[in-house]
Amino acid sequence: MMLKQQLKIISKEIIDAKIKYNRIDDEIKLLAVSKTRSAEEIKSLYQLGLKAFGENYLQEALMKQAHLKDCDIEWHFIGPIQSNKTALLSQHFKWVQTICREKIAQRLNDSAQRQNKVINILVQVNLNNEDTKAGILPEALNNFCQKMMLYPHLRLRGLMAIPKKTPILSEQENNFNDLLILFNAHKNQFNFDTLSMGMSEDYPIAIKKGSTLLRIGTKLFGERKA
Ligand SMILES: *Cc1c(COP(=O)(O)O)cnc(C)c1O
Repeated sequence: MMLKQQLKIISKEIIDAKIKYNRIDDEIKLLAVSKTRSAEEIKSLYQLGLKAFGENYLQEALMKQAHLKDCDIEWHFIGPIQSNKTALLSQHFKWVQTICREKIAQRLNDSAQRQNKVINILVQVNLNNEDTKAGILPEALNNFCQKMMLYPHLRLRGLMAIPKKTPILSEQENNFNDLLILFNAHKNQFNFDTLSMGMSEDYPIAIKKGSTLLRIGTKLFGERKA
């Protein structure tokens, strides 16, 4: 019951933001971030109509996926990638949003090739130049994306970022604006169609700034215990 209620609230807020910010004709995907949540919870949301789910930890994701074989879920990987796990990633995920190392991209491409697949990828951007955060710095982005184009089994779709957490929404809006500028600067060259930004605390302003993919966990499922 709670999931249904939360989904309804979020769906309404997404529509409201789309109207408010003149994006009513744009497709904006809601990705349910299901880390720490059970397969049963995922199934409930799936039955309510959500089809895209994001996971951060491979082992945890594989266990849940085994219980959800009958559901036609579009799985996104949104966590840090270990280079020896790329074969499992390409086998079990349609999208990998956290590409920021060449070696990993190469390995993912090779495993996708062996599996006769093409994986949708996003390049993760380290917008605020945070030491603790993964991602490509803005000034290195063009070069990195050019390299991604050389992998026939990876399909570069756009950018993803987790800007520094801030309680000040106008600061976050500036971050999203910087990401939008970066996205638009590369969009035509690389045929981008996906800008993954916006989480539970800030997704309406992410919509304002051009997000096409919202990654929402807490607001859907409630607070995580871990
Ligand atoms: C956990 C997580 C989210 C969801 O965060 P919430 O604040 O719970 O909505 C989104 N993106 C990434 C990369 C995450 O790790």
